[in-house]
Amino acid sequence: MWNEQKCDRCGDCLVKCQYVDYPREKAISQIEKLIFGENAEILSECITCCACNEYCPQGADPFELINELQEKYGVLPVPEKTARWMAAGAMVPSEKLEGGDEKPALSLCVMEPMVPSQALDGDLFANMTVLKGGDYFCFLGNIHIGKASPVKENAQRFIGNLAATGAKRIVLFHDDCYAMIKKMPELDIEVPFEAVHLVEYLREYLKSNRDKIKPLDRKIAYQRPCASRFSPELDPVLDDVFELMGVERTDRAYDRDTALCCGTIFSKIYPEKIQSVQQKNMDDMVNAGSEAMVFLCPVCMAGLASLVKQRDRSPIFITELVRMAVGELPFPDPA
Ligand code: SF4
Ligand code: SF4
Repeated sequence: MWNEQKCDRCGDCLVKCQYVDYPREKAISQIEKLIFGENAEILSECITCCACNEYCPQGADPFELINELQEKYGVLPVPEKTARWMAAGAMVPSEKLEGGDEKPALSLCVMEPMVPSQALDGDLFANMTVLKGGDYFCFLGNIHIGKASPVKENAQRFIGNLAATGAKRIVLFHDDCYAMIKKMPELDIEVPFEAVHLVEYLREYLKSNRDKIKPLDRKIAYQRPCASRFSPELDPVLDDVFELMGVERTDRAYDRDTALCCGTIFSKIYPEKIQSVQQKNMDDMVNAGSEAMVFLCPVCMAGLASLVKQRDRSPIFITELVRMAVGELPFPDPA
């Protein structure tokens, strides 16, 4: 939630933004215009990567203000088809597939069709109760079409549906869903279950299956999703996952706080702008000596997989990589 009291008008957020090139004076004047609720230039230049929330040293969450004003002024030329696609998320038929009580439940949101089936197979999620479909859709993706209100309006529905399953511990497969849960305290919504991020679950799984791990000894680029900006404290957990698998997370120009947005949804709004961002991202993957690119977010993978293959590297979903590390899947040949 935007907190004007915390903002000292330093301009850091927009100076660090990788999609504009503002000197500090302009960054400060843009922030001041936003604080006055004006239709500032940044509203139509922002590609909704959420990074400025992480860049702000005061925790003022400037992206929340930007996103609210993007909606207020309707600045983003969102194609009708993209808006319909986003609205359809909540309408996907829902299912609860019962598993054993000793394991946490797994919420797939509406992501199942977007990942390779082998990303969900094997021992990793075996015997878990699986929740999938529109009832468990978190609505966070609306921020990428310049809409902040559906996220808030549907927050109680999202938590209520998950809570109604009776699960005490739920693994959120999609980074967006975990980010939504992190927003609940500011919305005054109680979360009556333990929310587990996918990378936390993967670390637990690898630690309890150490005897099965055959270190992969690979150098792999990581595509950090936008929603991870809401949980930067989990980046070291991901480092642990890489280490447990014997994988070097390549030292890219565009990883961690300088990660580039995949642009999958936003490419429908400003295709040319996103094309150059994606090319920079792919060049960086190659230049860092990466043998593959690993994804935490199915939407990022859907948008970048073909570009990764064009560079003779393999796109791999993170749960597939874990299955490779425990000997359930072979490491793919170069694409
Ligand atoms: S939102 Fe944060 S980074 Fe941006 S001007 Fe305010 S205090 Fe500085
Ligand atoms: S959300 Fe991303 S693109 Fe938008 S202003 Fe913040 S850092 Fe820049």
